Amino acid sequence: MKEVKTPKKPLILFYVIALVVLLALNMFLFPALINGQIEQVGYSDFLQMLEDGKIDQVQVESDLIVFTDKAEKPQIYETGKMDDPNLVERLENAGVDYGAEIVKETSPLLSFLLSWLLPIALMLLLGQLLTRGMMKKLGGGGLGGSAMSFGKSNAKMYVPSTTGIKFADVAGEDEAKEVLTEIVDFLHNPKKYEQIGAKMPKGALLVGPPGTGKTLLAKAVAGEANVPFFSISGSEFVEMFVGMGASKVRDLFAQANEKAPCIVFIDEIDTIGKKRDGASSLGGNDEREQTLNQLLTEMDGFDGTKGVIILAATNRPESLDPALLRPGRFDRRVPVELPDLKGREDILKVHAAKVRRDPNLDFNAIARAAAGASGAELANIVNEAALRAVRQGRDTVLQSDLEESVEVVIAGYQKKNRILSDKEKLIVSYHEVGHALVAALQTHSAPVHKITIIPRTSGALGYTMQVEEGEHYLMSKEELENKISTFTGGRCAEDLVFRSVTTGASNDIEQATRLARAMVAQFGMTEEFGMVALQAQNNLYLGGDASLACSPQTAAELDRRVIELVKRQYAKAEKLISDNMSKLHELAKFLYEQETITGEEFMRILESPIAMPEGNAYNEGE
Ligand code: ADP
Ligand code: MG
Ligand code: ZN
Repeated sequence: MKEVKTPKKPLILFYVIALVVLLALNMFLFPALINGQIEQVGYSDFLQMLEDGKIDQVQVESDLIVFTDKAEKPQIYETGKMDDPNLVERLENAGVDYGAEIVKETSPLLSFLLSWLLPIALMLLLGQLLTRGMMKKLGGGGLGGSAMSFGKSNAKMYVPSTTGIKFADVAGEDEAKEVLTEIVDFLHNPKKYEQIGAKMPKGALLVGPPGTGKTLLAKAVAGEANVPFFSISGSEFVEMFVGMGASKVRDLFAQANEKAPCIVFIDEIDTIGKKRDGASSLGGNDEREQTLNQLLTEMDGFDGTKGVIILAATNRPESLDPALLRPGRFDRRVPVELPDLKGREDILKVHAAKVRRDPNLDFNAIARAAAGASGAELANIVNEAALRAVRQGRDTVLQSDLEESVEVVIAGYQKKNRILSDKEKLIVSYHEVGHALVAALQTHSAPVHKITIIPRTSGALGYTMQVEEGEHYLMSKEELENKISTFTGGRCAEDLVFRSVTTGASNDIEQATRLARAMVAQFGMTEEFGMVALQAQNNLYLGGDASLACSPQTAAELDRRVIELVKRQYAKAEKLISDNMSKLHELAKFLYEQETITGEEFMRILESPIAMPEGNAYNEGE
């Protein structure tokens, strides 16, 4: 993919040359011109002229003397002022008017205007004319920023080339690729569709969480389609000057119409496409509304059969103005979701192909460990792994690099220099083993992959990495309950061993509560409420933002159910841990000493015959 740029170089060169010429003129020519009327003479000449009675007026300044002669058109002279105590006497004797103010021909203001402003204005005018000429030659392109390109769309135009991004560079996202392939096909063979009477949608909206490859997909479309591709980000419409956004939209569509068939891609369309609300007319967002209105008008205005297709991308479809989603505008929605296990593996492979690596890497294991990661995060994982390899002086990426960078990217960088006190380390060890033990003892919970008590910058003191055995979308009530008791396991272990609790469980508490609340209010998993939705999920992608949709009495009852549910799961965790107290001590001791414990080590200790109780890491008597 090559970007077509306005040839700016010659213009810059022109301005540089102009500046140099200007400076030269100012240094040599103008002083001569302006000072041409003033003649410099020596002090002795001045005295001679004075004696000869040739001088008419004299003006004595701090360091020079200006005087005129008695000619019909008086000439102005200048001479340096000497330390001459007899000067006044001499002037008196010669009978000249020596208090006079001699007006020099050119005032400083005039000379400034003449020597700087006028030439600059001329140069600018000339430059403008030249630019116009160039633009004409380019066929009125107006693609890049000329000196005065206010109101131009500034959309980057791409022309297809063999080096571009192809669909093959986008791993997973098969559905999205299918839809986009159809669009590309339409632009290449419009006849095929016309014959049968099919009309292509005017616009398609790529919708999905950040980092899932929406922009990448659009670039792939540009690489695959053999038509011009205009790309612009929503934020580029938002300009300093009111009315500019709207005129940019107009310009963009004018260009697109000219180049049809072509594709227009508006990234992050939510910046201009937000819902319009009446309140904003009181000031502030008028500009954005105007821009959006212009966009709507343009989308209605152009002829769909001409082959201009509008792609747009957003993370926040729910914030878009409904008018944008009406038929005839962005009537096709292309979901671009977070990758599943297979997708994650493929994305890792795509990015790993670009680095030098050990041929036997197990991408499946990494993909499993990176559950929930977006494409951008997976790309980052591979890059971090490569950086780690370099740091350690190797020239290939190993499995261990990838494993480490999963943790770095998912859980924040390891902060080896952040020192935990021994007591803190011990508490964290028990806390983390508490989670893992409860998880492992419940049949449906995911087995533990790795636990570490090396602090992360994310703020988590310990970190239990759980690996889902396979992807599953449906979770049973029992599985959810087990998850909650796993969340409570950390605090539970602390309480059982130390008889006091710490702040370390705040995140667990949050997650357990969220899950319990969802079970009651969203998933209909209590007998009391049955299948009644008590919560409205407003924002699908940015998490949270769930608002209650029930009466205050029901809300109070809901809270009671949630508390009850969490407490019941806490009791379950407490029982599980109490029954396996010696295992808890044994595992915590191992973790405390090694700082890290893998899934296998964990299971080996858990399944080994019970060791002697003297191995406790923590003795209450101490
Ligand atoms: P979005 O626009 O959805 O926020 P981007 O398209 O900007 O995400 O993705 C950022 C980067 O993440 C891409 O440049 C690419 O390196 C990587 N990436 C994301 N999704 C994928 C994918 N499906 N396949 C390969 N790489 C991906
Ligand atoms: Mg993007
Ligand atoms: Zn915890």
